[in-house]
Amino acid sequence: MQAEMVAIVGFHQDEVGDWVADFSCGHRQHMRHNPPLTDRPWVLTETGRGEFIGRLLVCKQCQDEREANTNMTTDSIDYA
Ligand SMILES: [Zn+2]
Repeated sequence: MQAEMVAIVGFHQDEVGDWVADFSCGHRQHMRHNPPLTDRPWVLTETGRGEFIGRLLVCKQCQDEREANTNMTTDSIDYA
């Protein structure tokens, strides 16, 4: 399966103050700084976040949606 890259277009904070990245595909993903589980000190500073704007990454949610669609198609062929 081909991984589709999306860009980080911005950041915002959720209702409890955790940082959330906005992706170009419209999805969002938490970018928590919660050591030692997730160590992202860069997300706490405007400069650090700015360096990630425009970065390309694989959107897990897009992948999950594609896999769900693929599975549905496969199921209907196998079990219909
Ligand atoms: Zn996405």
